[in-house]
Amino acid sequence: MSECENSIRKGTTILTAKPFAYILSSKCKTDRCDYCLESGKLSKCSACQYVYYCNRSCQQGAWSIHKTECAKLKKVFPKIVPDMTRLMTRIIIKLSRGGGEEPGYYSERSFRKFKDLMSHYSDIKKDEKRMEHFMCVQRILNELFENEPMPSNVELIATYGRICINSFNIFDLDMNSIGVGIYLGPSIIDHSCMPNAVATFEGSTIIIRTIQDLPCLDWSQIRISYIDVLKATKDRRTELQSSYYFWCNCKRCEQPELTTGAAMCHNKSCMHPCSPDAGTCEHCQTQFPDKFQETFNEISEFTAYHLQSMKDMAYLDVSKVCLKKQEGVLHPLNVQHVQTLQSAFDSSISLEHWEEAESYAKRLINGYLTYYGEIHPLTGILYLMMGKIQLYLEKPIQALEALKRAKSVLMITHGEKHTLVREKLKPLLHQAVMEGL
Ligand SMILES: [Zn+2]
Ligand SMILES: [Zn+2]
Ligand SMILES: [Zn+2]
Ligand SMILES: [Zn+2]
Repeated sequence: MSECENSIRKGTTILTAKPFAYILSSKCKTDRCDYCLESGKLSKCSACQYVYYCNRSCQQGAWSIHKTECAKLKKVFPKIVPDMTRLMTRIIIKLSRGGGEEPGYYSERSFRKFKDLMSHYSDIKKDEKRMEHFMCVQRILNELFENEPMPSNVELIATYGRICINSFNIFDLDMNSIGVGIYLGPSIIDHSCMPNAVATFEGSTIIIRTIQDLPCLDWSQIRISYIDVLKATKDRRTELQSSYYFWCNCKRCEQPELTTGAAMCHNKSCMHPCSPDAGTCEHCQTQFPDKFQETFNEISEFTAYHLQSMKDMAYLDVSKVCLKKQEGVLHPLNVQHVQTLQSAFDSSISLEHWEEAESYAKRLINGYLTYYGEIHPLTGILYLMMGKIQLYLEKPIQALEALKRAKSVLMITHGEKHTLVREKLKPLLHQAVMEGL
């Protein structure tokens, strides 16, 4: 029987899978359970002092893999084993016990095994940066597996390649990355910068759902996005090329870009996204001031520098300086401007500056709709955050509006059974209804 019989509506779960192997990011190691990835009250593994669990049941669940890993972690403690090395360790342990035969199904009858994953062996061998990283990983592995049999160098590079190409970042409910996993079935799915499906997580379980109506479930036509698509085409293509070794020819990459690097028209009532080197607005013919291009480039470089410096931690004052400089020069949908708004939003939330956070959320929405699309987990979560902030600010009517929008998105991307919808969205909606009466 062909799988191409029934059309698939958007918001359909097409695949749910447990990881073949996964790890909790070391940055979360003391505040999340190493097994179920939940945060809460935790206790240490008394043997290695390295990993933490919610309770005995999580510890028992983790034991089959941790019992072999525990002594190794203990040996290097208090040194932190980097995430990639720890995932390699777990995969080496698993493969040494016959894990290579484990099937990961993506339909009733079709499955992949670990060795079916692309390793891009020759690309990795030629990739200086990756080989340098591999050598670091290998050094630590030698320390961890001292006096124990280890796979050959060729096998190790192939395993390393399979992880680089096929691993998924595991996200928490707010879409913060908290771990990395290998999912055999879902690794069949190709990339598009304009995907028709999305991956979300419940703990370490991955859930793939459609975000568009599809004529049928044909796995060769399902696309998710491997990268953050809030980027210009050139940057997306470079990232995909250097991380996954392919040149993206998706619909979005082939389309002309109108807004990603756009300048603001000098005519304040014109919203046309202008090319910064055109000299005049092609829509209203307003001339740009002298040396506009220089100013534009200068501000763009200034912004790029500061966004890079805020990669791990956003600062409200720095974001504000950038936004001030961008005023009247960068178009509101210019990617750099949207990214700056994002860091202003994130930092005002961590400072609990709710009024500012609300205004940045409102300004962010158009950028999210443009680059992530109307139906995307991040768009849904932005609406949800906006509603939550508006409840703090005692604006239940606006909050209800935002939360209803969140619901219309999240019911598709996550579905009503997902913890995000059940435990976050629904209570907020209820609160907004009650407070708006
Ligand atoms: Zn747990
Ligand atoms: Zn332990
Ligand atoms: Zn693309
Ligand atoms: Zn114009």
